[in-house]
Amino acid sequence: MAEASKSDAPTSGEGEVHTGGCLCGAVRYTVVGPMRPVIYCHCGQCRRWTGHFLAASAARRSQVTIEDPDGVLKWFISSPGYRRGFCSRCGTPLFWGRDGGGFYSIPAGSLDDDADLEAVMHVHTGSKGKYYDIHDKLPQNTDASSTTPEIEAWREKSRAYK
Ligand SMILES: [Zn+2]
Ligand SMILES: [Zn+2]
Repeated sequence: MAEASKSDAPTSGEGEVHTGGCLCGAVRYTVVGPMRPVIYCHCGQCRRWTGHFLAASAARRSQVTIEDPDGVLKWFISSPGYRRGFCSRCGTPLFWGRDGGGFYSIPAGSLDDDADLEAVMHVHTGSKGKYYDIHDKLPQNTDASSTTPEIEAWREKSRAYK
């Protein structure tokens, strides 16, 4: 086991690369490292922010590079200590994070290629809209504190990247 995980560990200069950006293309980002499995957030803020519910991947901030040459990425403080980044030209939601936190949530829909992502959990289902039902078999949590084996595996894997 230990030997297998050692040989799987990425070395400097290697690793996964994910790219994405906003609808108009003014804001682009690159993630070098693994992206978290998708969590569906049904909280009232994410529902307003996205127009439905948020399909959120995530990445360690140290692995995220943001390109915003026109300075159109704006940050909205959605609650004390938390902010949401969006393109002020086209309105695309791009980043959510706690001030001083270690990662950004990133909407899966903003990725150029989401082929290696899977959804693993619903959170804040107590706030979900009444106009839709959840039909999949994923775990549903009424708050945001729960996790899954897939998310724990991502945490472990993401530590190997710098
Ligand atoms: Zn844009
Ligand atoms: Zn939310």
